[in-house]
Amino acid sequence: MAQSILIDMIKLRAAMSDNPDQLLPEAFYYNSVNLNGLKTLRELATFRFTCRRCEDAPCVAVCPADALEKDEEGIITRHTNLCVSCKSCVTICPFGTMMTDFFKHHRNRDLFYDLKDENDLKRFIAASPEGTVMITDQDESPEKNIYRLNEKVLIRDYLYTTENL
Ligand code: SF4
Ligand code: SF4
Repeated sequence: MAQSILIDMIKLRAAMSDNPDQLLPEAFYYNSVNLNGLKTLRELATFRFTCRRCEDAPCVAVCPADALEKDEEGIITRHTNLCVSCKSCVTICPFGTMMTDFFKHHRNRDLFYDLKDENDLKRFIAASPEGTVMITDQDESPEKNIYRLNEKVLIRDYLYTTENL
């Protein structure tokens, strides 16, 4: 089986909680047909797996720039061209979905890595808090809270589900 990159959102949140002022490194992994507005993997994973998909999403309501939009599945998208990095959505989210550095450093290009590049991948792993990013032979495994984000990237996170409510 081809190897994947595993990003552990549970450990990343713990690292951010220990040091809320840090700026975590960010990464992209895009194939040529799915550019999707060039969102970082952490942003894509947060809205896909961590977000509780609130019916009357307070993050959308509070955004002064109309930068957040919820699709028919309840998944939030941030329009990066509109976002003014005010962090109102981060503050108002009742579930602490977004980490404290979210949308804050999108102008700092030194913190961004393209995971299609082997050297960038190594640098991203080295720059990330210890144990939060790794290369793995495993595949998606819900019993281990591991889910596939794209053909190369796995995310470990506590998936919000309404199935048992
Ligand atoms: S308020 Fe938080 S949990 Fe609710 S939709 Fe927005 S980001 Fe998701
Ligand atoms: S940080 Fe961006 S998306 Fe969030 S409320 Fe401010 S403008 Fe909207």
